[in-house]
Amino acid sequence: MIYYSGLFALIHKYSARRGVTILAYHRICSINDDYLNLAIPIDAFHNHLEVLAKHYRVVSLERAIALLMEKKITNSVVITFDDGYRDNYTNAYPLLKKYGFPWTLFVTVNPVKNQLLLWYDSIKTLYINTAQDHVDLTDFGMPVFPLRNRREKIAALHKTLGLIKKNPVFGRMDDFVRSLEKQLQCSAVSSATEAMLTFAQLREMQRAGVTIGSHTMNHPILAQIESNHVRDEIERSKQMLEQELEQPVDYFAYPNGAREDFDDQIIDNLKSVGYRGACTLIPGINSDDDLFNLKRVGIDQNFVSFAPFLTRALFAVEMTGILDRLLMRSMRTKLSSPRIFPAPDSGVKP
Ligand SMILES: [Zn+2]
Repeated sequence: MIYYSGLFALIHKYSARRGVTILAYHRICSINDDYLNLAIPIDAFHNHLEVLAKHYRVVSLERAIALLMEKKITNSVVITFDDGYRDNYTNAYPLLKKYGFPWTLFVTVNPVKNQLLLWYDSIKTLYINTAQDHVDLTDFGMPVFPLRNRREKIAALHKTLGLIKKNPVFGRMDDFVRSLEKQLQCSAVSSATEAMLTFAQLREMQRAGVTIGSHTMNHPILAQIESNHVRDEIERSKQMLEQELEQPVDYFAYPNGAREDFDDQIIDNLKSVGYRGACTLIPGINSDDDLFNLKRVGIDQNFVSFAPFLTRALFAVEMTGILDRLLMRSMRTKLSSPRIFPAPDSGVKP
C-alpha cells in the first residue's frame, strides 16, 4: 500500500535513513532446497535491482568508504555478496552487469580453491542424502538425531548447526565432516546447486569491475577458534586471493558477522595485515567511519513475496526504514541478516 500510494515518494524523499546502506546477499537461485535461508530467486533479485535503479545511488564499497571518511553522508547503497557460490556468477552477475551496478564479492578461499562445498553445505548434503536413519554425534558431545524423513533431517541440520558453534569440533571441521561421511555412508560432493565459484570466474568478474574481498579460508566463526588460526584465516586468504587475482584485496567480511562472532583483537589482526575495512552482519545504516564494523542489511526470503509486484514493494518499503518505525522494530530480528547460526536468544533455528 505504501509503495503504490503517493506516500512512498514522500517517505523516500524525506526518509530519515541517511547514510550508506550495505546490502548482504548470499545466493541467487531456486529456493526449493534452501534450508539455511541464504537464497532468493532470480526474478526477486531482478525486482530489487529495479527498485535500486529507480530510487537509489548504487556505489562501490570503496566509494562508500571514501564518502564515510569524508563525512559526506548521502543516501547511497552498496551491493555485497558473501561466501562465493557459483550462482553469483551465473545468475547475479549478468543482471548486475545489465544495470551497470558496482558490487563486492567476499570469497571463502578454500572451497573455491579446492572446488569443495562449504562445511555447512557438506553437513546439509550428508544429512539430506544419507540412507541411514540417524546420526550419532555423542563422540563429539552432541546428541543422536533421527534422520528418518525430510522433516527430521532438516530439524537435525538446524540443531547440529546450533550446537556446533560452541563445540571444540569447530576447530577441526574437516575431521568432523570426514567422520560424518563415514558414519552416514555417503559423500559431501559438490553438487551443481551448491557449487562454488572458480578463480577464472573471479578474474573475469574482477576485470569487469567487481571488487573481490576475503571471507576467510574456511568460514569459521573467528571468535570461536584459536588465535593462531585466526591469523591464518585472515592473512592467508588475503595473500592467496591477491596471488590468484593479481590485485590488492582490501576488504573483509566476518563469517556469520554478529557482534559476538568477532572482537577487537580480530580487528587489530585485520588492520595489521593491511585490510582497509570489514563488513559485519549487524543490521543498520552506516553514518560514521567505523570501517571495521560496517553494518549491513541482510537480504533473505523475508524480502521475497509470492508476487513480483509485492516483492518490489516489500523491498522498496523496507529500504526506506519506515517499517522499523511502523512495526516498532519488533520485526527487526526477523528482518535481520541471514546467518548460518542462530542468534543466542533465538533457540536453535537459524
Ligand atoms: Zn558467509
